[in-house]
Amino acid sequence: MAGRADSTVLAGARVVLPTGTVENGRVIVEGDRIAGSATEDARTLDLTGYWVVPGFVDMHNHGGGGASFTSGTVDEVLTGIRTHRAHGTTTLVASTVTGEMDFLAHRAGILSELVQQGDLAGIHFEGPFISPCRKGAHSEGLLRDPDPAEVRKLMDAARGTAKMFTLATELPGGIESVRLLAEHGVIAAIGHTDATYEQTVEAIDAGATVATHLFNAMPGLGHRAPGPIAALLEDERVTVELINDGTHLHPAALELAYRHAGAARVALITDAMDAAGFGDGRYQLGPLAVDVKDGVARLVEGDSIAGSTLTLDTAFRRSVTVDRIPVGDVVQSISANPAQLLGVYDKVGSLEPGKDADLVVLDEDFVLKGVMRKGEWIIEPGA
Ligand SMILES: [Zn+2]
Repeated sequence: MAGRADSTVLAGARVVLPTGTVENGRVIVEGDRIAGSATEDARTLDLTGYWVVPGFVDMHNHGGGGASFTSGTVDEVLTGIRTHRAHGTTTLVASTVTGEMDFLAHRAGILSELVQQGDLAGIHFEGPFISPCRKGAHSEGLLRDPDPAEVRKLMDAARGTAKMFTLATELPGGIESVRLLAEHGVIAAIGHTDATYEQTVEAIDAGATVATHLFNAMPGLGHRAPGPIAALLEDERVTVELINDGTHLHPAALELAYRHAGAARVALITDAMDAAGFGDGRYQLGPLAVDVKDGVARLVEGDSIAGSTLTLDTAFRRSVTVDRIPVGDVVQSISANPAQLLGVYDKVGSLEPGKDADLVVLDEDFVLKGVMRKGEWIIEPGA
């Protein structure tokens, strides 16, 4: 057909589509999109023996490659974004950690420009509206109760690019803040919370739709006090984030969430900090010092786990090879579900004609061998 850009046909691979896995499938890339048919002079790339899956979508990520999304310069933030892209994350939301309100508003301005130019898919504010009882790696002195006026201040500073707020919804102002976010199409996520079961149900009824790293930074599941975990797992309106790095969750906890919520309600995230894709050493997470040893990040003061050093290619491989989650379910949890939550499933999150050519090539052991974003190889298989 005249006027069409040359296309490339990725042939011979197992291609994971929303409808199932196609053996010896084809993905046609034309320009920056996936196409339904190839031009006559299309180039063919033989990917026999590989899997082709949609690019990963990470909705909770604080940094990587030695760079922090909360404090880094624009160049450093871009380094973090590129680090995660090289691990298959083609759509990324930048998460901040607790800081002063003015500082967070300032960061929202910087990050929003990267959203506008297409490098980020949005901003996630994790803190300061969280519980001192479940603060994790957030500065206790800077925590505050959720206040709709302050939530709005950060939303305004982000100029329409705020995608998610993590809130301890049981605190004063929590439910009003959930309602405000829901009204504006911003995800209200329940996390770093000390809520009871009943309080969690109330927040879901008010419009909260995500559990921030389920199990982590919230009360455990008790038989008389089922707490937030039972409420979040049982409600069809909620998607639960899971950090599958082998440190944050026991495999049985991951399996419990997959079985109970189903793959359609799980979002695999990294919650990565600067050391992801970089290495062990001393780092800063907002104002707090963190030591990373053997890939596990802990606060210097108090020993709390301080984010992860996970990348989503590792989470994918672990979910399939260690936890034995079916490949199609992992694809749904790592690409489609977060894309749907973020409101970008019309562009990314599955390998369908018309969408961005964002894809990951994995070998038979689920090791990443290629990444394409908007039709360009970030890592070319075999290169
Ligand atoms: Zn986080």
